[in-house]
Amino acid sequence: MLREVQEIVELTKSFIRAKAIDASGVTQAMEIAESWLKSRGVRVYKERNQGLPMIVAFVGPTGPQDRAKVLLNGHLDVVPGKPEQFEPYESGGKLFGRGSYDMLAAAAAMMNCVASLANKSSSQAVALMLVPSEETAGEIGTGFLLQKGVTADFAICGEPTNLGIAIQSKGVLQIELEVSGKAAHGSRPWEGENAIENALHLYKQIAELPFMQAHSSCYNGPSLNLARIAAGDAINRVPDKCVIALDIRYLPGQQWQAILEEIRGLAPSSIKVISTGAPVCVDQNDPHVLLLAQAVQKYTGSPARFICQHGAADTRFFAEAGIPSVEFGPVGRNHHGEGEYVEVNSIGTFLSILKDFIEREVKA
Ligand SMILES: [Zn+2]
Repeated sequence: MLREVQEIVELTKSFIRAKAIDASGVTQAMEIAESWLKSRGVRVYKERNQGLPMIVAFVGPTGPQDRAKVLLNGHLDVVPGKPEQFEPYESGGKLFGRGSYDMLAAAAAMMNCVASLANKSSSQAVALMLVPSEETAGEIGTGFLLQKGVTADFAICGEPTNLGIAIQSKGVLQIELEVSGKAAHGSRPWEGENAIENALHLYKQIAELPFMQAHSSCYNGPSLNLARIAAGDAINRVPDKCVIALDIRYLPGQQWQAILEEIRGLAPSSIKVISTGAPVCVDQNDPHVLLLAQAVQKYTGSPARFICQHGAADTRFFAEAGIPSVEFGPVGRNHHGEGEYVEVNSIGTFLSILKDFIEREVKA
């Protein structure tokens, strides 16, 4: 195991150095992954979408058009960071560097897992998806590959979860609302109607709508973020138009179309949908989840922790495709922040759990 963990750490370091914050960095990371997988006898299929490369690797009796039993999903893109964050280093059992935790170490461990299956000339049908754009536009990678027909019984996205199993995540509805008012001279505001004030009033009304009152055992409620406000030109004028951008994260079981209808009922001048994403809700007693939980208990020594995520990940595309999926990854801290690291020991635990889980799946 130690040798494998060292190999994963080295691979993770080369991904960190690739600085996959843009197309050229992602391309470099994807080339590293491709040659690494090929050198271990893994069959690799390449795809490209909107100038970004991606890989699907297969082991066992399966190809791009066949259904895999288990699909592992990793993104090689990372969020931007300071120059020194792209120079990885180890200290005190931790591997530091941008993307170490989100989620290059998990992706490298998934590659190692798949390579070990290829060497066993096993009959497991396992696929690995390495995608280029989870942080910015998951539809270019995971969404695109699923539309191309890649499919599976169950998928694991190696997002940072500290070895917890994320079985739920909120849906996304991002919108822009235009609100109008009546222009007037700034010295006589009572003759006008301030569009910014109207927009703020509308925002407060939205926060009180029925959809915002929903809650579940996982979540206190949906969230609403007033992300952007654009209005006003001259300081001596009452603004007559205001555009606000709202980021709404809704609960599994809610429908974004119904939420939009509630908002429409408040009669803004116009509504523009910027983006939507399906919520994820996998049954804690789903047979695949139970097998994963057993593997987690075996290697961590304690019962699996089930968690619910506030943010969305590529699991939303699996949800839309009807494939049950969870987020599950190693232990670390500070993803998207400074001092991001992954705990080296947990990489070994993560790898053992993945291998054990796949073995259980094949026997099941
Ligand atoms: Zn991530």
